[in-house]
Amino acid sequence: MKKKLLIDLDGTILDGTLPINQSREFFEKAEELEMEFLVMTNSVKSPLQIKRRLSIAGLAVPMPSIINPIIAINSYLKRKGIRSAYIVGSEQEAVQVCVPHNERLPEIVLLLDFEKENLSYSDLQDIFLFQQQGVPVITASASPFYLSGGRKQLDTGAFVRLLEAAGNCEIDVFGKPSLSYYNEALDILDCPPEDVIVIGDDWRTDVQGAENAGCRGLLIRSGKYCRGDEEKVPGIDVIDSLTEVLRFME
Ligand SMILES: [Mg+2]
Repeated sequence: MKKKLLIDLDGTILDGTLPINQSREFFEKAEELEMEFLVMTNSVKSPLQIKRRLSIAGLAVPMPSIINPIIAINSYLKRKGIRSAYIVGSEQEAVQVCVPHNERLPEIVLLLDFEKENLSYSDLQDIFLFQQQGVPVITASASPFYLSGGRKQLDTGAFVRLLEAAGNCEIDVFGKPSLSYYNEALDILDCPPEDVIVIGDDWRTDVQGAENAGCRGLLIRSGKYCRGDEEKVPGIDVIDSLTEVLRFME
């Protein structure tokens, strides 16, 4: 079977708005060779926003070739036949969800983003009550904080841990390096893991996550990469440019 690709966005294809790692040449070649790939990011920005960012950098990536945690969650909801959700997130995030928001009797709780909404104690308590009623909770992020102005700010993952502790349960994460996110991406690619190559600059989320999902991880020397990262995942290959991926395709 022909190999398919999952390619990380930030630090692998783009540095801010600039194309890196010969990504322009790579996507031209990908089109010419009819390569099947998904650009896979942990950002909950919409695929349209991501497509626009890529096109500013001169990269023509079609929208169906972009996957974010919300697309993976939608794929999960469809497979499970779930028809309504209590959605926690900004308007821009909530509109990406394929089922309607339900305040009273949701079939699932979706934690997309906590920090921008400034959730109160009573909102957390509402989610905790849903948990006690047996409503499953899943999240788009497990990141406990993000950096802003040199300071750590509480992020969605911190509240996920709070709810896990209070509810004595594990909340499934749909963000790299989670297996759930990789499995949905493989489902969308319609490809067994052994035929998928994952390329990224983060040895843990991209490469170790890929290997855990049964895919082949390739570490690229850019973005978050630090010298010696390749030694953290035994036996992995390292590349300096996306065009080098071609030699792993057979
Ligand atoms: Mg990255």
